[in-house]
Amino acid sequence: MLYGQPHIACHECDALLADVALPAGKKLVCPRCNCTLRKPVRDPVNRGLALSLTSLTLMVPAFFMPIMTFNMLGLDTVDTMVKGVLHLFQAGFWWMALLVLFCSILAPMLENLLVLLICLLSQARRYGGLLITLLKIQSRIRRWAMLEVYMLGILVAYVKMIDSGQVHMGIGMICFTGMLLATTLNTVMFDTHSIWENVGRYRGGLHENRPR
Ligand SMILES: [Zn+2]
Repeated sequence: MLYGQPHIACHECDALLADVALPAGKKLVCPRCNCTLRKPVRDPVNRGLALSLTSLTLMVPAFFMPIMTFNMLGLDTVDTMVKGVLHLFQAGFWWMALLVLFCSILAPMLENLLVLLICLLSQARRYGGLLITLLKIQSRIRRWAMLEVYMLGILVAYVKMIDSGQVHMGIGMICFTGMLLATTLNTVMFDTHSIWENVGRYRGGLHENRPR
């Protein structure tokens, strides 16, 4: 093993392998267990920009427009995501309100903003300390973005309320679904490894190896 040479550990069998710079379309496979260790996506920066801009654009109507309208005995109740958090605060469930506020609103917004900034800095070839800090924060914050849990909550509420009155999904629900899809794709497909490789080349800390 050469000191300073980048390595990657197999998450299945713990084999330690020399890391190599991969072109799009190639993948790094563990020779011991045949597990795929890394598969770079094509054009990760532009893809990240498109998905984060889509998510951020859909966030405003998803948070502030009606998710669903509930009608019982002629009385309409319109609920938005922000109203839902406020109702939790007013009902005294402040800890749950804070959790929903952070995991369903602030963390996804922050994650998409961070991806947007990382992509813009990568496009401008600014591989300095700011980009490194943003990459580290993004890797931590993405674990807290739990839009899918909120979606599950909406579906459970829908099923429970449908027997008590008329329930209509609003425009906020369509925007929320779009935002959920764009954010999930961004989380799964955003290739931070290729950006780290560029940072390493810029700082002279990554040895260029030939791809397999
Ligand atoms: Zn392995």
